[in-house]
Amino acid sequence: MSKSPLIDKYDRQLTYLRLSVTDRCNFRCYYCMPEEGMDFAARQELLSFDEMYNLASLFCSLGVNKIRITGGEPFVRAGIIPFLRRLSKIPGLEEITVTSNGSLTSAQIKALQEIGIRKINISLDSLDRERFFRITRRDRFESVYASIFQLLESGFGVKLNCVVAEDKNIQDIIPFVELTKKHPLVVRFLEEMPFNGSDTFLLPQWSHREIYQHIQDHYPGLEKLQSEPTSTSVNYRVPGYKGTFGIIPSFSRTFCGTCNRIRLGATGEFRTCLYGPPSLNLRDLVRQGASPEELEREIRVAISNREKDGFAAEASVSQKRHESMSVLGG
Ligand code: SAM
Ligand code: SF4
Repeated sequence: MSKSPLIDKYDRQLTYLRLSVTDRCNFRCYYCMPEEGMDFAARQELLSFDEMYNLASLFCSLGVNKIRITGGEPFVRAGIIPFLRRLSKIPGLEEITVTSNGSLTSAQIKALQEIGIRKINISLDSLDRERFFRITRRDRFESVYASIFQLLESGFGVKLNCVVAEDKNIQDIIPFVELTKKHPLVVRFLEEMPFNGSDTFLLPQWSHREIYQHIQDHYPGLEKLQSEPTSTSVNYRVPGYKGTFGIIPSFSRTFCGTCNRIRLGATGEFRTCLYGPPSLNLRDLVRQGASPEELEREIRVAISNREKDGFAAEASVSQKRHESMSVLGG
């Protein structure tokens, strides 16, 4: 008999797991982590591949049908490809997607295709090498940019994630939209969120409204597209362009009413909202010998306590220091 799905008290079913496979990264994006002094988890603190596989299987038996692999940078973890291959066989799992900084993806294209992964999100915040360097603190623009077109040519559905911020990349917004003229890309503009691994965060000057207005000033005839009910982005097309673009109110949080996401961090922290504290640590329970039934019970309790939205979740966080997105599993 199949188990009852994970549904919170606001009637949202949780079907989408974001799994952070490592907190480590070969980049140091300013909005995600400090340039120096990141305190990465020791190897034994990370969930092992077996632990991740077993937890992912448990989540899929509870109705999760999509897993996004994220991090940190997923491709810096040795053994990631065999793990993805194993994951792809889990009953009920319909789709695996990956979010990557694109610096190590070229070498993995064939393996990803063989596993059946068809969609990948690449983070790219600028089309200019200098600005890219200032944002990521790594001089890797050319290889990341080239990997996007290799992925497209290999038939992947590619979305580009671009975090918009004053003094960083405003001049890139229109060129990014222009990139969708000839290429079937989806560019998504995100508001900056406070997950930068430090205790400072300035309210973003560029909300989804400013981003939309800026683009609309350039392209008055924008076509608004239908989106999935659980989509976090509001999507548009410049008429006649091959690709599309979306705006994600990631800081304004206007999409919480239909959010179907849960997160498992690299060290086992389980979150029902990006903005909230971890509900429990599944790694610790697993290592204490909890049975699948006990794990399921704890997961259901966490889901039943899920907050209404990201503002309510944030209100329950006491610490001033903002976790790095690489720890949360963005
Ligand atoms: N390293 C991979 C990458 O950069 O795509 C995967 C992990 S990264 C934490 C996942 C996504 O979170 C990226 O698209 C990144 O741009 C986004 N992100 C990280 N910190 C953010 C922040 N403070 N505000 C908004 N988006 C953020
Ligand atoms: Fe690394 Fe991704 Fe964070 Fe940038 S956003 S530092 S690439 S984990």
